[in-house]
Amino acid sequence: MLKGTAVSGGIAIGKAFVLKECDLTYSTSKDYKPNEEWLRFETATKKFTLQTERLAKNLDKDEAQILKGHILMLSDPYMQGEIKKHLEDGSCIEAALAEVCDNFKKDLAKTDDELTKQRVSDVNDLERRMLKILLGKKDFDLNTLPPNTIFVVRELTPSMTAEINKKNVVGFLTEKGGYTSHAAIISRTLEIPAILGIDNITDSIKNNDTLILDGLNGEVILYPTEAQLKTYRQKKSEYLAQQKSLRTYIGKKTTIKGGRTVSLVCNIGNPQDADRVLECDGEGVGLFRTEFLFINSNKAPSEDEQFEIYRKTATKLRGKPVIIRTLDIGGDKSIPYLNIKHEENPSLGCRAIRYCLGHPDIFDTQLRALLRAGAYGDIRIMLPLITCIDELRTVKSRIAVLERELKNENKPYKKNIPLGVMIETPAAAIMADALAREADFFSIGANDLTQYTMAADRGSADVAYLCSVFSPAVLRSIRHIIDCAKNALIPVGMCGEAASDPRMIPLLIAFGLDEFSVSPTNVLSVRETITKWTQPQAETYAQKIMSLTTLGEVLANLA
Ligand code: PEP
Ligand code: MG
Repeated sequence: MLKGTAVSGGIAIGKAFVLKECDLTYSTSKDYKPNEEWLRFETATKKFTLQTERLAKNLDKDEAQILKGHILMLSDPYMQGEIKKHLEDGSCIEAALAEVCDNFKKDLAKTDDELTKQRVSDVNDLERRMLKILLGKKDFDLNTLPPNTIFVVRELTPSMTAEINKKNVVGFLTEKGGYTSHAAIISRTLEIPAILGIDNITDSIKNNDTLILDGLNGEVILYPTEAQLKTYRQKKSEYLAQQKSLRTYIGKKTTIKGGRTVSLVCNIGNPQDADRVLECDGEGVGLFRTEFLFINSNKAPSEDEQFEIYRKTATKLRGKPVIIRTLDIGGDKSIPYLNIKHEENPSLGCRAIRYCLGHPDIFDTQLRALLRAGAYGDIRIMLPLITCIDELRTVKSRIAVLERELKNENKPYKKNIPLGVMIETPAAAIMADALAREADFFSIGANDLTQYTMAADRGSADVAYLCSVFSPAVLRSIRHIIDCAKNALIPVGMCGEAASDPRMIPLLIAFGLDEFSVSPTNVLSVRETITKWTQPQAETYAQKIMSLTTLGEVLANLA
């Protein structure tokens, strides 16, 4: 049995197709003429653009957006300038392109931020496709894969997903990629079971091997016995039946059994995700991560561009609440055009609200766009990585200035826009009582709250044993934050991954959480879990869990 990261649920039973990458070596012996090489680049870029536009037609909006980003990257003046420099030094275009892409990848890989890391696979995809065009190489036609194929590849790229025949592919297995990689996002969108990050899988599996892919537990069974096939066929039909039964929760309120109704909203990263929120019956947006708008672009989006995006999202959601988080970028998040300076300890450096307060041009642009879009829907602003009350007060006074500006310009804007705080640092958690008196709402960023409380990098496998939201220290912190919000009579939500964990949900019910913000795919299962617990049952469970003092004991006693 092989194990990897389960990123898209479900069970697949099928035959392997292992994609071996074609040889992209090139000779560098000649003396190259920069003009001729640049012409080859321009011709290849035209082909690349046509190919990308054709592929993008096979994809839904979100995925197409990712691919179209590759065209933008190639036309980026900085990238083209770097390529020209190498050509002037006598390189062939293949070597120039590879060198520039390598430098980009090195910069991006330095970060431990998942969003930025995703861009490494974009650069890889772009580089390989351009090299194939320049070298005249052809890949296997992925559109001809037979039914029941489990697609095995080193790294699943957006262009591959555009090419494969999705009716015939029942699972994905890769060597590279984690839970938030493009490959993971795409397989969840396509609802195809996927396990990523299995070392050497393209060598350990051969074409036509029969496989069982358990996307619930991250396990791959090679050469399954008849008994295993029978068990997994049964598991698969149970899973499908469960998915079907979840649909009965569409249109229902999210009400604790015999008790209060809570709000069940979604985490999104771009305006297209608003469609997914509606499809999955989300009750609004609890976290719009606006950094995607900056990451998927080669310049900072203007006030008007951002205004349109926020307005469109709020309009699509027809009056449902939309909590938009201001730019959570900085420190190690390498966006070349933002000139973010390198820091020795980026997670503790100039990120999120700290970056924004230090860059009023970027921050004011975003705040003005948000205030203006607020006139078209229930938009609320949320500030990431707050550590002290001064930050909140500074933003409030900035908003007051911008409101006056908009008034003088006769532009419609929302007055008294709700301003909330993400509680995701120990400092904010400790000061939650005071913050609650000045904020309109709280949202607990359980991912960062865990990493900062436990002083354990959320991206590091070495300290993963410490970085658990179920650590007693984190649980106590969450309970304290919710208590403070309750005392101050402000709403409190959670938007970290833990909000959709069925073992955490009853604890949050017991503590009195008002809002659960989860990925659209998890809405119905979270609604099901919430509606199955009564308040007294949740409280008994919480009493037991909160009396424990080690992570091991907590894990052994979870629901
Ligand atoms: C969090 O930290 O829990 C959170 C939701 O923010 P992000 O994962 O974007 O840092
Ligand atoms: Mg966070």
